[in-house]
Amino acid sequence: MEFMKNGKRIDDRLPNELRPIKFEVGALERADGSCYVEHGGNKVIAAVYGPRAVHPRHLQEANRAIIRYRYNMASFSVEERKRPGPDRRSVEISKVSREAIDPVIIKEFYPRSTIDIFVEILQADAGTRSAGINAASVALADAGVPMRGLISSCAVGKVDETVVLDLVKEEDNYGQADMPIAMDVRTGEVTLLQMDGHLTLDEFEQALELGKIGCASIAEMQREALIQKYRGEENE
Ligand code: ADP
Repeated sequence: MEFMKNGKRIDDRLPNELRPIKFEVGALERADGSCYVEHGGNKVIAAVYGPRAVHPRHLQEANRAIIRYRYNMASFSVEERKRPGPDRRSVEISKVSREAIDPVIIKEFYPRSTIDIFVEILQADAGTRSAGINAASVALADAGVPMRGLISSCAVGKVDETVVLDLVKEEDNYGQADMPIAMDVRTGEVTLLQMDGHLTLDEFEQALELGKIGCASIAEMQREALIQKYRGEENE
């Protein structure tokens, strides 16, 4: 498959360009915090419940809140109907996504509690774990969960020997490498880094730099979306 033509990608983007991204804070009325994200062809919703009592009780921790994260793909989110329910992939993504967000949450404020994060992928077009993490991070802030910073995430990779930012599905599925990262752009702490495919050390460093720039842009959009929502409420 040919990915690059005259320096442009299959969807006409430059190698270092993100897809269009839109955050809607507080999209759900009955969650404590929520966020709907459109990221290129991805449509993702995150709902946060808590801090609240832990069930089953034996999971509770005496001196801090526990964080639970469920990533789920709707059966209609991909071209061929996906079998509903958890599978190996969603269990793994739930785990790494929780670990990506966990470090910024100030869990000591809520002993014996849980903060539950639900991420539903309504439409998938590569980078759904990143879109989920971005939405979850904003939903946590919307729920008023105390955090040291926001986590921002995007994928980088390689197609036609070119390091590219924010892969679309064809690039992700048939390209040479796919590397999702998540980080707190304020501190520079990287909280998720995975890689499929092959990159040379040089390409890896290039990809990481590009990913950091992508995360910084996304962090700005997350902050802007939160400011918009809460500035609006002040004036009501
Ligand atoms: P991510 O969505 O975080 O990039 P993957 O690299 O595993 O995660 O998946 C890349 C893309 O492949 C998904 O966003 C989706 O578009 C597609 N995909 C993943 N799982 C399935 C599936 N079970 N059926 C069809 N397409 C899928």
